[in-house]
Amino acid sequence: MTLVSQTDAELAARLFDAVAAVSGEGPGMSRESFGEGEDRAMAVIAAIAAELGFACEIDAYSNLWMRLPDDDRNAPPVVIGSHLDSVPHGGNFDGLAGVVAGMLVLARYRGRAHAAPPLRVLALRGEESAWYGKAYIGSLALLGQLPASALDMPHRSGTGTLGDALKRTGLDLEAIRAGRALVKPGDIAAYLELHIEQGPVMTARGWPVTAVTGIRGNLRHNVVRCIGEAGHSGAVPRWLRKDAVLAVAELLSRMDEHWRVLLQMGMDLVMTSGIFTTAPESHAVSVIPGEVRFSYEIRSQDAATMERFYDLTREECRSIEAARGVRFEFTSRIDTAPAAMDAGWIGRFGEAAQRIGLPLEQIPSGAGHDAAVFANAGIPAAMLFVRNEHGSHNPDEAMEIADFITGVDVLAEAVAGGDQASVRTQE
Ligand SMILES: [Zn+2]
Repeated sequence: MTLVSQTDAELAARLFDAVAAVSGEGPGMSRESFGEGEDRAMAVIAAIAAELGFACEIDAYSNLWMRLPDDDRNAPPVVIGSHLDSVPHGGNFDGLAGVVAGMLVLARYRGRAHAAPPLRVLALRGEESAWYGKAYIGSLALLGQLPASALDMPHRSGTGTLGDALKRTGLDLEAIRAGRALVKPGDIAAYLELHIEQGPVMTARGWPVTAVTGIRGNLRHNVVRCIGEAGHSGAVPRWLRKDAVLAVAELLSRMDEHWRVLLQMGMDLVMTSGIFTTAPESHAVSVIPGEVRFSYEIRSQDAATMERFYDLTREECRSIEAARGVRFEFTSRIDTAPAAMDAGWIGRFGEAAQRIGLPLEQIPSGAGHDAAVFANAGIPAAMLFVRNEHGSHNPDEAMEIADFITGVDVLAEAVAGGDQASVRTQE
């Protein structure tokens, strides 16, 4: 790409290295949500931002906002953001890349803030669920949507709660409990987030940057039990068996076939049973399995597709119960809504990429992001993915700085294009 400048790559590397250096003992990065690693990352980012001439502000919920000091406009800004926390022993780029990208875009408008729409860079806290079992803490609080019950969620170590950590970080717990929003939907023109891809698609396809179509929601049962009848593996004939393993195996292979057909129909869907076990207290090589416990998760960008696949699942359970004499018991269902990304911004990303000579493919995000919280609050939100090898949530994340700069180029171009549109609408 012709827009790759040495300066951008150097600044990016400096920011990534400076934050990595304060991200705890290895392997990998540990920037605990509302903990020390995240505090240190935020301090490093704020110090370099000040050096770059940005005006910095920490809001009442301890998120960091950056802007150009000569930007005195009051119109709702375009916000470029992501999170600074990581999972324990995670990678350096998950989250941090979005904050660094925003800083690079902002740096391009130094001394000429009015050449872009009003811009803010937002470094959020507490996106990862790994520490308190709750994701998007920072963005939910910002929008007044963090449930008060979340404050009682225990730290992964078993000692202390999220409320304790928020208090230690200096947040006003009463404001959080009351659901006081610092940002309302009309306050922000758009929320844009650049993030590393966390799956293998872009590397496999050779795509450096993509636009995200939507963020998959999910529908889960953490535990489903299939209850059959234990028996002697040699003594019970096939026709008298109630084998729980064969019943669940049949259920999953029927659902796998439905999945294949729905994909052929063009639907977005993934299905996973990540936990699958016979009863360890009674299972044995010579015992027909009387019980299987398994997890069941469906994800899609489309709520109706998830519901349809869920209905099919329950139908197949009833049919297998009748045919095999087993019984399925479902624990409570947990729903997370999908989030559509803003079509206008997806279009701007495409046009911006075209201007710099890059074909821009589109893919869904299977993982959750703060952008979903903004989108579901009614704020136009959009995301770019940058190619990354070895997935994320591990120390082996591998993003090339050249790919990252290409992503920043698309983001900056799209923001500049957005400027003309927003100036026109204001006139
Ligand atoms: Zn992330």
